[in-house]
Amino acid sequence: MALADSVLIVGGGVFGLSTALSLSERHPTTQITLLESSPTIPNPHGSSVDSSRIIRADYANRAYADLAATAIRKWRTTAWGQEGRYTENGLVLVYSEGNTIAEKYTRDSYENVRVLEGEERVTFLASNAAVEETVPRYAGGTKAAGGYLNRGSGWADAEAGVRFAKGMLAERKNVTIRQHAEVERLLFDDDNNHKVTGVVLKNTEVLTADLVVLATGAWTPQLVDLGGIAEATGQVLAYIQISDEEQAQLAHMPTILSFATGIFIIPPRNNELKIARHAYGYRNPQTVQVPVAGTVATMEDVSIPENGVSAPQEGERACRQALSEMLPAFADRPFIRTRVCWYTDTPKGDFLITYHPDHPNLFLATGGSGHGYKFLPILGEKIVDALEGTLDVELARLWKWPEVRAPRGPVVTRDGSRSGAIGLVLRDELAR
Ligand SMILES: Cc1cc2nc3c(=O)[nH]c(=O)nc-3n(C[C@H](O)[C@H](O)[C@H](O)COP(=O)(O)OP(=O)(O)OC[C@H]3O[C@@H](n4cnc5c(N)ncnc54)[C@H](O)[C@@H]3O)c2cc1C
Repeated sequence: MALADSVLIVGGGVFGLSTALSLSERHPTTQITLLESSPTIPNPHGSSVDSSRIIRADYANRAYADLAATAIRKWRTTAWGQEGRYTENGLVLVYSEGNTIAEKYTRDSYENVRVLEGEERVTFLASNAAVEETVPRYAGGTKAAGGYLNRGSGWADAEAGVRFAKGMLAERKNVTIRQHAEVERLLFDDDNNHKVTGVVLKNTEVLTADLVVLATGAWTPQLVDLGGIAEATGQVLAYIQISDEEQAQLAHMPTILSFATGIFIIPPRNNELKIARHAYGYRNPQTVQVPVAGTVATMEDVSIPENGVSAPQEGERACRQALSEMLPAFADRPFIRTRVCWYTDTPKGDFLITYHPDHPNLFLATGGSGHGYKFLPILGEKIVDALEGTLDVELARLWKWPEVRAPRGPVVTRDGSRSGAIGLVLRDELAR
């Protein structure tokens, strides 16, 4: 089936690279240009680039669990997971007393992975004592009322995965990769800002194509109006230096994700231990100009990323507190660096993979909501299915453009997995 003679894919992270890989394979005569504003892919400021990302089928929603299980098979058995890009170390998910939403998420997720991974690989931990017995190193600091261990989950070297994807893409004859190519705005066929015909780069260069795919992650609200649909939320990462001996001791621990605090700790890599928080996050409200209903509208209070920002004191304290409870031996170790990394959050944590309802020839592939990385080996297949109109019914329902927009303003992801305070603003927290 012919899709388009020429396609511009904007964004060189997980969503853009995987789309380009699948599109170039399934449509070998289509000319594909991938545009990335960063001088490099991997982009060190992108959401897809970090030391590690959890690879898990541990989802309360069965559709994501099934999809993740398919992705994990690729990480396990194909080149995607080789050369240290994937390590299977297990995952412990825990909830705290009285947090009924987190407990439900954990129990539903347990039921799903029990079926997908097999009973022998997944152990329910019905009490704090059972959690402590399973992960004694965390010294009881999880404050867990219960949880479970899934030995079939793992983690990926996120930067290496992106580099691998780019390497494969660079060999495709029908693909051109352009770095340092920032899209300033979409190009339309008339004065009504209706049909998209290409993009205008920041250097004023005009590129036209039959189809434009925005895989621009947390920056997408700068190019189209996503009010009430998706926005950037900043999440805290902190790193400490550890010795060779400590690296060897911690390397084979399971990853732990505590719904009590949102804190997760993945085994260290290259003598760096990362402490991270999966939370409602920080907003970074800005004023942007985007095409709306035939004009260019000025939108206030749109949260978009700020590159190169260290964690506010509030976030550092949360990581420090988690260290003192979960790995007390490291409690006083200085952070060698901290970072605010940007999720593209949607109200239910579902991706946004759909044609734009008002702009023909414009397609969105974004809304990662803090859990998109694991799908890197297979996400492009689903995105191209959506482009062709053949996506599974359930995924199409989850990823469609919403029939009714949530009110403008903060997008709060209520998928049962988030912790922390709602409504923190980055600049306020940095000023404290
Ligand atoms: C702290 C953190 C922890 C996470 N943990 C996990 C995890 O454990 N497991 C998991 O599965 N997922 C995890 N995720 C989520 C996952 O990493 C993201 O869902 C995924 O990487 C998003 O990919 P993306 O392509 O949408 O975004 P990005 O990787 O940010 O890619 C978007 C790209 O578009 C480019 N771009 C933007 N605007 C323009 C423009 N105008 N012109 C040209 N280029 C542009 C950007 O420079 C960027 O490189 C985590 C995310 C974060 C931030």
